[in-house]
Amino acid sequence: MGAGKRFGLAALPGERVYWFACCGAERRDDPTLEKLDLEGVQDIFADFHEPIPEVLNRTPADALIWTDILDLDPMSSFTAGKVGLLGDAAHAVTPDLGQGAGLAIEDAAILAALLGRLPVQRALSEYDARRVDRARRIATASRLYARVAQWSNPLVVPLRNLLMSSIPHGFMDRQLNAVLDIGFEPIRSAA
Ligand SMILES: Cc1cc2nc3c(=O)[nH]c(=O)nc-3n(C[C@H](O)[C@H](O)[C@H](O)COP(=O)(O)OP(=O)(O)OC[C@H]3O[C@@H](n4cnc5c(N)ncnc54)[C@H](O)[C@@H]3O)c2cc1C
Repeated sequence: MGAGKRFGLAALPGERVYWFACCGAERRDDPTLEKLDLEGVQDIFADFHEPIPEVLNRTPADALIWTDILDLDPMSSFTAGKVGLLGDAAHAVTPDLGQGAGLAIEDAAILAALLGRLPVQRALSEYDARRVDRARRIATASRLYARVAQWSNPLVVPLRNLLMSSIPHGFMDRQLNAVLDIGFEPIRSAA
């Protein structure tokens, strides 16, 4: 994490690497960022440590995808009448906790199980009762993490980085376990 910018890497099967680079944008569809090519990204992250410069050097220019990061303000309900929203339509979150797709899959599993044993209207209201708070918690935590990670004040950034690197693993594990702690019931088709 740098001042107003950060870089992340993950190993993929087949000796491939997935990486992302975030630079704080002043506005949506920022034309400067939209036009940024690989060289521009290399310039922005030139002061980052290895292996970031090497990974950028080895990235094919046409492999770059640019997009704004957008999330939704938490909603108080995902249903209206017989209509129910799930996935990003209900609760698009920033990618900071890596939970967007996870939440969408949870929604689907829970709604399918409820529809298997309850009439539609009751299934939807139970779905709402079980999903809205969890999605709000994850969306709020994810947005907070995104803000802190994009801090750009040069006085605050070193303190943030020191703090982040000194958080005990046990604490991080407990935070992750709280996110992963969710139960599912078996999905049965309505006979
Ligand atoms: C860069 C990036 C990194 C991410 N990393 C992670 C991660 O590490 N972990 C994680 O859990 N999540 C991650 N996510 C989030 C995750 O991709 C989304 O939360 C997830 O895909 C949401 O699933 P969804 O089915 O709700 O929506 P989508 O995947 O957006 O699916 C909606 C589908 O509906 C289609 N559609 C839209 N309008 C219409 C229409 N009118 N008619 C027919 N079809 C239509 C779209 O084409 C699309 O295929 C990431 C997202 C991004 C952008």
